Amino acid sequence: MKAAVLRQVGTPLQIEDVQINMPGPHEVLIRTKAAGLCHSDLHFIEGSYPHPLPAVLGHESAGVVEAIGSEVRTVKVGDHVITCLSAYCGHCESCLTGHLSLCVSPDTKRDAKDEPRLTQNGAGLPQFLNLSSFAEQMLVHEHACVAIRKDMPLDRAALIGCSVMTGVGAAIHTSSVRPGETVAVIGCGGVGLAAINGAAIAGAGRIIAIDMVASKGNLAHQFCATEFIDASQTDAVKEVIEMTKGGVHHSFEAIGLAKTAEQAFGMLRRGGTANVIGMIPIGQMISLPGFALLGEKRIQGSMMGSNRFPVDMPRLVDMYMNGKLKLDEMISQRIRLDQVNEGFAEMKKGELARSVIVFD
Ligand code: ZN
Ligand code: ZN
Repeated sequence: MKAAVLRQVGTPLQIEDVQINMPGPHEVLIRTKAAGLCHSDLHFIEGSYPHPLPAVLGHESAGVVEAIGSEVRTVKVGDHVITCLSAYCGHCESCLTGHLSLCVSPDTKRDAKDEPRLTQNGAGLPQFLNLSSFAEQMLVHEHACVAIRKDMPLDRAALIGCSVMTGVGAAIHTSSVRPGETVAVIGCGGVGLAAINGAAIAGAGRIIAIDMVASKGNLAHQFCATEFIDASQTDAVKEVIEMTKGGVHHSFEAIGLAKTAEQAFGMLRRGGTANVIGMIPIGQMISLPGFALLGEKRIQGSMMGSNRFPVDMPRLVDMYMNGKLKLDEMISQRIRLDQVNEGFAEMKKGELARSVIVFD
């Protein structure tokens, strides 16, 4: 099969032939139908986060089940599925206490002594985030995908696999936004827009979107933001505190910078919670005013929206189908696998919301 391979940090992905194994007892072979380009992929391409190379990147995808292992009970051949990098074992402490997305058990991966899922000319290729979606097929653990209704378009379903789950989940799970509360979201890329949408679904009273690109204002309003701040023109922290007479209940950092994480904390009211969703480059420190902790302000990480994806993703599909979840507005272009590098070049400009690779 064809796949986009990262050979070296800082170089374009190469379209190459990669061999994929047959499913083991608990594995699922998926024909990839759509794969979104996520900012996290770019972190690995640029080397701000490490990964063994060469590797097939991509982790936001949807497809159709082609084959299943002998013990698989959760999906069947022909099912439409969304994948999730939060593969969960189902029997560790995190899983058993309802925190599936925190599972780090190696039981969802193949053992080192087994044949690798992906190989190239006889040598194993490490799978990227349990998925490796920039490829015509994926071989995943059955707890890394979930079946969805078949009237859901797969190009939009793919987005639920990472950015949408991450953003919506940050609002409804990690920070538990309550009806009427006030929210600020820093960064209006795919994840930030999904956090805005998630806050709206949770019933937030005011949702203030913040971005350095003025044209993102319209997009943010389409995702149900009630106000927009162009942070290239003003001090966003000061502005939010003035607008809300003291700060917001929940803030979300969806860029991945120390400075914006500090701003997210700075715009909280007493008792408020700042959620850092973005991937802050390894080695960067954040610093906070210690006295502010007296007001019971909190700052916390939010990873993959604290998801319980086998339950959450079919619900998000229903919310798309009944108009509550916005996905059409999030896709700015559909591209082929061999245009993946052009897609990342667009992402770096910071204007587009999301490019999606569609496979025929
Ligand atoms: Zn992602
Ligand atoms: Zn587990």
